[in-house]
Amino acid sequence: MTDVDRILEVAQDAGRKAAALCRAVHASTPESMDKSDKSPVTIADYGSQAVILRAIASAFPNHAIIAEEGSEHLRESAGADGAAKIVKLVNDVIGGDGANPNNGTKTDANNGDLAADFEQVCNWIDHAGPATPAANGDAASATLAHEFTWSIDPIDGTKGFLRRQQYAIAIGLLRNGVPFAGVMVCPNLPVDLGSPEGQKGVMYVAADGRGTTRVPLDGGESGPANASTNPDSTAWRVLGSVESAHGDPALVVKMMEEANIAGGFVRYDSQVKYGIIAEGAAEVYLRPRSRPDYRENIWDHVAGVIVAQEAGGLVTDTDGKPLDFTLGTKLTENRGVLATAGRAVTDAVVAGIAAAEKALA
Ligand code: AMP
Ligand code: MG
Repeated sequence: MTDVDRILEVAQDAGRKAAALCRAVHASTPESMDKSDKSPVTIADYGSQAVILRAIASAFPNHAIIAEEGSEHLRESAGADGAAKIVKLVNDVIGGDGANPNNGTKTDANNGDLAADFEQVCNWIDHAGPATPAANGDAASATLAHEFTWSIDPIDGTKGFLRRQQYAIAIGLLRNGVPFAGVMVCPNLPVDLGSPEGQKGVMYVAADGRGTTRVPLDGGESGPANASTNPDSTAWRVLGSVESAHGDPALVVKMMEEANIAGGFVRYDSQVKYGIIAEGAAEVYLRPRSRPDYRENIWDHVAGVIVAQEAGGLVTDTDGKPLDFTLGTKLTENRGVLATAGRAVTDAVVAGIAAAEKALA
């Protein structure tokens, strides 16, 4: 098995387990999950990250990791109930697989299986790999000194998760600061976007030079994902965030007018937007900078970028500049993000944005 095969296998297995955990949180809190009570979501975020980082730590101890969550807040706020809940969620999905001789797991008195305790779960959440301090003291740029750095968002689109709409488990891998492989699990995405009430759960798997594969999460036929090749701008479909504060919907609408893009504007939470570009169901995912000082987090993009690009798409910022993932946790040198079905679409949208900004100024 090559290194890339192993990377994809470990990431897919971890992504499936994380998805099972997220679905279990949804299933165990049917109607009580109001927005003021963030605990179920917090527990799913932390649990998903524990499961994913545990897998990476065990398979690739020399790889660095940049992930969205840390255990500090969980340790402070979980309480006994929260701790017991997350430990159960994690053990339920890792199962007998909880045995990891190097990680101090211990026997669960209730079932005799090897099970992780709260301390172990917190340690998995905080696993960062062999980070070496950088000269400038920035831990994140130090991790980028390693050949391989994983970029993990255990639940991207938390607001979508709370609304039981779209969210993604985003497992990306940078090689020398360039998106190299990614597994993106979308537990609520319809397998057939045209049948929103049908089977749900899609996983996108991509690696450099290997294309993107689209896998129905709960069975069904897998196949290559291919970006749209439709040259007719009037038919191009545009994707954006549900949360208006995460972008600039007025600018998106004006850009469409200026560039004569008229296939519709559909809003989804999370990186599922990259998957939809990858499978050719939209041509444009535009994420204008929401405010002048906002900088995108790398974990909101790495997995999605490789998924879209390997399907034939192109990802740049809103000026058409390549994204620079070598600068730490943020895309400090890029303005917004633009993912498209290819160069011609990018050129048309970048021109449309310039015209829209002028018109709205
Ligand atoms: P989406 O579901 O596409 O709107 O993206 C969700 C992500 O948006 C979250 O994971 C946050 O990291 C990120 N986010 C939060 N605030 C902002 C903001 N003001 N502008 C852009 N992205 C944001
Ligand atoms: Mg996110």
